[in-house]
Amino acid sequence: MIASRRSAALDELFALLRLPSVSTLPEHRGDCERAVQLLMAKFTAMGLEHVQRLMVRERGLPLVYADWLHAPGAPTVLFYGHYDVQPPDPLAEWISPPFTPTLRDGNIYARGAADDKGQVFAQIESVQAWMQAEHALPVNVRFLLEGEEEVGGESVEAYIRTHHAELACDCVVVSDTAMYAPGLPSLDVGLRGMVYTEVEVQGAERDLHSGLYGGAAPNPLEALARIITGLKSGEGKILIPGFYDRVAPPAVKEKDAWRRLPFDEEAFRRDEVRSPALTGEAGFSVFERTWARPTLEVHGIPGGFTGAGAKTVIPARAAAKISMRLVPDQDPEEIAAQFTAAVQRLTPAGCTSQVRILSTAPAVLVSPDNRYVGAAVASLRRVFGAEPVFIRSGGSIPVVALCAAELGAPVVMMGFGLPDDGLHSPNEKFALSSFYGGIRALADFMLRLTERA
Ligand SMILES: [Zn+2]
Repeated sequence: MIASRRSAALDELFALLRLPSVSTLPEHRGDCERAVQLLMAKFTAMGLEHVQRLMVRERGLPLVYADWLHAPGAPTVLFYGHYDVQPPDPLAEWISPPFTPTLRDGNIYARGAADDKGQVFAQIESVQAWMQAEHALPVNVRFLLEGEEEVGGESVEAYIRTHHAELACDCVVVSDTAMYAPGLPSLDVGLRGMVYTEVEVQGAERDLHSGLYGGAAPNPLEALARIITGLKSGEGKILIPGFYDRVAPPAVKEKDAWRRLPFDEEAFRRDEVRSPALTGEAGFSVFERTWARPTLEVHGIPGGFTGAGAKTVIPARAAAKISMRLVPDQDPEEIAAQFTAAVQRLTPAGCTSQVRILSTAPAVLVSPDNRYVGAAVASLRRVFGAEPVFIRSGGSIPVVALCAAELGAPVVMMGFGLPDDGLHSPNEKFALSSFYGGIRALADFMLRLTERA
């Protein structure tokens, strides 16, 4: 990349980072709209076509689409990313203001630098590099950028489900993940799925005095505690009948590769988790427990009296937010049904329970043996000068599973972030080496796709 383009690319990224496109806060709708306009202008100036602002649902945030489809016979790559960001608070902890992008020690500091504006811009600049040098691309390209990734991604989901022809492609490239360690290029080949629930337990019709009725009246908070401990053992085993039936263990080759990753369990406990001990299923490594085993976690338990002092109430109602992370080949609908049945069965006499399923997403596992992943490995190796590693992520990116299922195309998760980028935290950063390396790797990736398999 020539020097003048390097600084122009950075200037344009900074302009996008200056826009507080916080999707969860209604007062920032105008900033989201400005981000859309900036991206559309950029696509048009680069020579992309069919540049569109797509409004899928009322009160949603627009998608941005653009394409260049003049490489007959060559594969079509769909680039996905998001222009929305998380709120920047706590503001006082930022060294430089979140929406004033600042260079320090080879890093770009700003909200959205790594998640995901910097990575989206690496995709865009890789295309721009080709357009500038050749006035053409080696492959066909589509861009689909959304503005609701941080708030559930409803618009992009609806659009993908109903626009298969408009999004037809041979592979999807998602740049919204991180490398395992600095200098260690990584391809994420697995994501966990998710079933998020809300359990409500009802006892008596109204709150009761624990002196007058305690001993005879049911207590829904206690019932909830019994239900939760009935769902998962103290050793981390989930006790829902049938829950593990479809769990597919990682391949021996994959587990061997994980053993070779640089990892210090004690440092992980001390510096990342910062708890006195790690928990979880015996006989499984931390990688297995966080990447390849399902979980059940309680996120909150509203109910009863929580103010200062004492109030002797037996509450009428209690609730809990409980989610499960799923792994291949668990079926979210089946797990949701098993969970609901288990909660009903565990509900003690005197109480009734109700389960609401708030969201579901299946796990994703990309076979490392396809030519798109092969091309990505070769490009990452060349640009970063190290052998790429295959990793999984314990998190969930629902759009990845959706693209794989709806578009029938393999998803290549080529992400350039670093583990300490501070996504969703103060002082979020993106390394310049990730930005420029990402641009070069993606530009090289497009060329490799034209090589005969
Ligand atoms: Zn993201």
